[in-house]
Amino acid sequence: MALIVQKYGGSSVGSIDRIKEVAGRVARTAEAGNKVVVVVSAMAGETDKLIDFARQLSPKPSEREMDILLSSGERVTSALTAMAVESSGHKAMAMTGRQAGIITDTVFTRARIEKISSERVKKALDDGYIVVIAGFQGVTRGEIDITTLGRGGSDLSAVAIAAAVKADLCEIYTDVDGVYTTDPNIVPEARKLEKIAYEEMLELASLGAKVLQARSVEFAKKYKVPVVVRSSFNENPGTLVVEEDKEMENVVVSGIAYDKNQAKITIVNVPDKPGIAAKLFDSIASADVIVDMIVQNISSDGKSADISFTVPRTDSDRALEVTEAVALELGAKRVDKREDISKVSIVGVGMRSHSGVASRMFQTLAGHNINIMMISTSEIKVSCVIDLKFTELAVRVLHETFGLAG
Ligand code: ADP
Ligand code: ASP
Ligand code: MG
Repeated sequence: MALIVQKYGGSSVGSIDRIKEVAGRVARTAEAGNKVVVVVSAMAGETDKLIDFARQLSPKPSEREMDILLSSGERVTSALTAMAVESSGHKAMAMTGRQAGIITDTVFTRARIEKISSERVKKALDDGYIVVIAGFQGVTRGEIDITTLGRGGSDLSAVAIAAAVKADLCEIYTDVDGVYTTDPNIVPEARKLEKIAYEEMLELASLGAKVLQARSVEFAKKYKVPVVVRSSFNENPGTLVVEEDKEMENVVVSGIAYDKNQAKITIVNVPDKPGIAAKLFDSIASADVIVDMIVQNISSDGKSADISFTVPRTDSDRALEVTEAVALELGAKRVDKREDISKVSIVGVGMRSHSGVASRMFQTLAGHNINIMMISTSEIKVSCVIDLKFTELAVRVLHETFGLAG
């Protein structure tokens, strides 16, 4: 008998018929002799719809209230899925994040899990229930406020619950049957990976491949949770996310990711003296904005600098506001913002032992007249910021250059 956590994403529970299908799969897993914990997302499109409602009422809705609002989507599907499982002849119990003991910090809309008090879930499992937990949500210490875990956060709920109850496997069910060399909805030739290293998956997810939320991969890696990504629409074997092995090093580039949620801010002609970058990025961090790439150019006379950096487009208004205030204080000439950009990245643990990978990427982009605005590299990735309109083209040609097609 195994203990299995199954997470079903928005499209997997997107309608009553889909919920019935999910209940069937859950029932079959239980009938095969396993204990099952189910984690569900809201119905596809529901979270976006709720965000849109809020924005119609306020340009900057209160984040505390946002979390009460957004957590409702997952409450609906957890209750409905539990009902459907019960109709298939099994005992089922729905739980909110709070009832499942998911304790977070107080950073509304992107809270971090601090602890999971899983006694109630374990007790229900011991009593023969299939537990159906509302994903994406938790509660602050002392059960004061409802929080959510950032977009795509049900993946994190599932992995964290799996770690807490020491599950044998965490299955992530979505609308594709695994992790591909790149988004299969953009490049039809993309190839499904049989397995992928935690570290590669973490890079791909952080760089925009939304098939798994980045934080969930970080968590899985830390607590060594075995994760498999599968489709709830068929029985195909999925992709295992596992520790890196020797074989993986032979593959130079394993995947390509893109991120369209990017904006570039440039502070122009700021006096070049010690402490400028510290001041700027300290203010931006205080506004809770995560900065990604940073490029600084010093003018030819050495007196001033331009500093460009990228932030998530969804936070760019906040970042711009802060940067303008700093620019005024420092006597910079002006601040520019561009939203029509994207980031395209190649990822692979094999890059550690192969050279010339970045230059092949640059040549490929140049060969298609795609201008590179910013570059950043790490041991296992190279990212380029390019014009938004070339995103799909860049992903396709890089996929071909690095021989990733099936
Ligand atoms: P869910 O609602 O089930 O959480 P998501 O929409 O969050 O599903 O994630 C699944 C989507 O991730 C796929 O439909 C696909 O378009 C996208 N995706 C991006 N990169 C990849 C990749 N490398 N492999 C598989 N899917 C990817
Ligand atoms: N419903 C949430 C979202 O759309 C969480 C999730 O689906 O994982 O971001
Ligand atoms: Mg998702």
